[in-house]
Amino acid sequence: MIPYSTQDIKLLDQIRVFRALRNPLLTQGPEVDKFEKSVADYVGAGYAVAVNSATSALHLACLALDLGPGDLMWTSPISFVASANCGLYCGAEVDFVDIDPDTFNMSPKQLKIKLVAAEKVGRLPKVLVVVHLAGEPCEMKEIAALARKYSIKIIEDASHALGSKYLGISVGDCSFSEITVFSFHAVKNITTGEGGMAVTNDSRLSSKLKALRAHGITRDANQFLTPQNQRTPWHYEQQVLGYNYRLTDFQAVLGKSQLQTLKTRNARRQQILKLYRKELSSSSLVKFQSLKPNNLSATHLAIILVPADLRDAIAHGLAQKGYATNLHYFPIHLQPFYQSIKFRIFPNAEAFSKKALSIPCHTKLKRRQVKEISKTVLNYLR
Ligand SMILES: *Cc1c(COP(=O)(O)O)cnc(C)c1O
Repeated sequence: MIPYSTQDIKLLDQIRVFRALRNPLLTQGPEVDKFEKSVADYVGAGYAVAVNSATSALHLACLALDLGPGDLMWTSPISFVASANCGLYCGAEVDFVDIDPDTFNMSPKQLKIKLVAAEKVGRLPKVLVVVHLAGEPCEMKEIAALARKYSIKIIEDASHALGSKYLGISVGDCSFSEITVFSFHAVKNITTGEGGMAVTNDSRLSSKLKALRAHGITRDANQFLTPQNQRTPWHYEQQVLGYNYRLTDFQAVLGKSQLQTLKTRNARRQQILKLYRKELSSSSLVKFQSLKPNNLSATHLAIILVPADLRDAIAHGLAQKGYATNLHYFPIHLQPFYQSIKFRIFPNAEAFSKKALSIPCHTKLKRRQVKEISKTVLNYLR
């Protein structure tokens, strides 16, 4: 079965990890620092904090922005559940803003309507988690302007968007947000097995994130609260309640090695999407995500919208030819867990999830396979 996405680990990546396994430090050490610096430089952020998953990065980002009980966090219903769960981890309430039917991302128009209504009842969110679905950046200028107006902090869930550009600006440079989060899960554009990173331009947020990822412990003598004459030679201090969310050094080596080829990896994904668009252009029943010409999408996914009554048959037909598909995503608010919370309906998200199909898109996919997948899809639409 050809998967909808898969990792691509080269011999050079393997050799570097093999070497790193002989280093004196196995868990977080100097290689994590180097990986952080390379990602920060790549996306143009001031600070980067590597953790063991994007889920952990989202959790810490919410904590660093002081999200807590009594607060509200809003995100997109069309995302992985982690984009919403992070708010609940902090004891906050979570709600959603419907998507735009063309971009599949959070709709700035819906956001504005919801903010006006929320202000009237005094229930404005503290944090907004925006998700760049499939790598296509959200309309950040509009969203950031609204966030400024209502004093809301923004976290960008850029799990799909490493290498994406918004109006020529790298996603992760944090011009429009407090913190941006990337994922290095196996199916993402580069991988560390499991892994994630939070980037920011705010040194205070960076320090908070760093303390929270390692139990809330500091070893920096300048920050110690205990008087010097009461410290042992092995002194360290836990000053807040943190977690063990560290990345290992050998994972960081893999991430840094993969980052060196990110550009060609993403270019390959972009070629595949372009070919799908060409091959499927003969059917007016197939719709793609609308991409802004001044943006660059990391093209993490190739999502097509097909008629709802044909979607599952198309998926079945592709599976018979050996091609796996997926749904990105089933709306979060309709998950059984979220059913215990009362939400409004989000019609665009719900319509999207009945028509969406992620067809294979990864660096190991051949042109021939893209054409065969397209032909199979078209067969169902005649
Ligand atoms: C993959 C993903 C996450 C979670 O990433 P992990 O590194 O697996 O924790 C969060 N949000 C989105 C949009 C994702 O695709």
